[in-house]
Amino acid sequence: MSITDPADKNKVSVSVNGRKYQLLSDLHTHTVYSHGKGSVDDNIRAAIDLGIQTIGIADHGPGHIGFGVPRKKLAEQKAEIRALRLKYPDIKILFGVEANIIASEAGLDIKPEEFPYFDFVCAGWHYGALDGLSPRGLASTLTNLARSKAEQASPRQIRHNTEVIVFALKNFDIEFLTHPGDKAPVDLLEIAAVCARTGTLIEINTSHMSLTAEDLRMMMLTDARFIVNSDAHTPDRVGDFLPALALIAEAGIDMERVVNLKCMS
Ligand SMILES: [Zn+2]
Ligand SMILES: [Zn+2]
Repeated sequence: MSITDPADKNKVSVSVNGRKYQLLSDLHTHTVYSHGKGSVDDNIRAAIDLGIQTIGIADHGPGHIGFGVPRKKLAEQKAEIRALRLKYPDIKILFGVEANIIASEAGLDIKPEEFPYFDFVCAGWHYGALDGLSPRGLASTLTNLARSKAEQASPRQIRHNTEVIVFALKNFDIEFLTHPGDKAPVDLLEIAAVCARTGTLIEINTSHMSLTAEDLRMMMLTDARFIVNSDAHTPDRVGDFLPALALIAEAGIDMERVVNLKCMS
């Protein structure tokens, strides 16, 4: 496998084994509304500079204790994005949210009736979601904090985490599952099989890189599809997709299954 550095002119176009691929979108970026370092405008300009066609702003859902965006601020962010669409008409700007998957009956910190408020809802497992303070949630959080790696996790812990995520996948229209396996070890094959059925994309997250080539090959046994995102918390990381390309190439999987990579030649 050989990856050629991106050409200066278009930094999100890369050659892999003689074929050229372009990153079409980066839907998972954070801003100062949660704990990112740049403004919404900064992330959009970074994406424009790279030639990305679609940028997504997906700050943390309101249920996170540390950096969840309160609903009132989400309304402000939505209005800001609406204004920025007029300022930057040549790039598609999507207003999303990275909801928190929670080990409670609610399942997610975004309610079903709130989904139409966003252009998309992605979701992932994070420490510090509010319902993590319920007795069941707290036990789950402490267990995962103590044994966050798959090789340390107990079968019971993996089963619990998998069931919590599967519940969210089945009950909410989640666009993509962020950084699966990170922070909470799960049965990735089962998760991928459910994602294939619900049409939820599996994220290859270049900030966390929690998936191995072996994980990817295993998940490819299902019909699940994938999306590459930077999870940028600083504007300079927007569009960072080289680590994902290297992993995909190492796994030897079909790039056609990655929805936001386009083969140019
Ligand atoms: Zn996350
Ligand atoms: Zn994130």
